[in-house]
Amino acid sequence: MTDGFARGRRLRSTPALRRLTAQTRLSPADFVLPVFVKEGLTEPAPISSMPGVVQHSVDSLRAAAHEAAEAGIGGLMLFGIPAEKDPVGSQADAADGIVNRALRHLRADLGDELVLMADLCLCEYTDHGHCGVVTPAPGAVRGQGGAMVVDNDPTLDRYAAVAVAQAQAGAHVIAPSGMMDGQVAAIRRGLDGAGATETPILAYAAKYASGFYGPFREAAEGAPQFGDRATYQMDPPNADEALREVAQDLAEGADAVMVKPALPYLDIVRRVADAVDVPVSAYQVSGEYAMVEAAAARGWLDRRRAVLETLTAIRRAGAGTVLTYWAVEAARWVR
Ligand SMILES: [Zn+2]
Repeated sequence: MTDGFARGRRLRSTPALRRLTAQTRLSPADFVLPVFVKEGLTEPAPISSMPGVVQHSVDSLRAAAHEAAEAGIGGLMLFGIPAEKDPVGSQADAADGIVNRALRHLRADLGDELVLMADLCLCEYTDHGHCGVVTPAPGAVRGQGGAMVVDNDPTLDRYAAVAVAQAQAGAHVIAPSGMMDGQVAAIRRGLDGAGATETPILAYAAKYASGFYGPFREAAEGAPQFGDRATYQMDPPNADEALREVAQDLAEGADAVMVKPALPYLDIVRRVADAVDVPVSAYQVSGEYAMVEAAAARGWLDRRRAVLETLTAIRRAGAGTVLTYWAVEAARWVR
């Protein structure tokens, strides 16, 4: 007897049937490409731990942005690497700082064709490599070389100033990634005070202290010179706390939220997507990229298939937008 039981295979028997019944689809507009622009470069510099990804000069970034627009992706997330770093990250909000210069060019070149998102943090701009300003730890004696900690509240003023500079330079979206408490409220106040009431905030709301950021440190040249980021980024074992971080950012005025990294945190992506009614992004980080590229280079994975499967999984988990270093290539594949 062959009747009387369900046959899942019926709808899998041809590519056309599978396409018709696919529950998750990828389209170029789902993808955002993170890009790095470094002051002083005259041509792009390869990043050894991220084959195929470069640090851009302003000119090569402009060319890459045109290519991204032609591929139909949703937007760019900009990171800047200044020539000069200092304790407070002055170049992040300098009007002629590298990221703000790049934003002006891109906005002039592309208008509103691509969504230009500005990552807002200080770690690429500070000489100590932390995401905020630092102060001696309670109990440490200043000048004695004691432990330093990232000081939350003075950092908020810096973030607000950076947000205003980025909005004035042409960023369509401000994306704070520093995981300081109160950062969204401070940035919203800063933007509103400068007349940028229409500029949305995409909060890196649930950003974990992850081992998968390794290659990014080379790309953005923002490795901490002491300690780590475990005192401000989320602890990987925690899930409920992600919902609290997201709720707090929304209460402070975030227009959209992000989970980072993506693949090791798909449960978080799903829980956040179920909990909120704003757009949810997930950031497929440098280590996720490097894993697939390294295995594919050895012939251990079918690169294209693996890339598209990871992107599908992130969308299936509930992210509407995926930040991915494969954005342009994947857009061409799925178009
Ligand atoms: Zn940072």
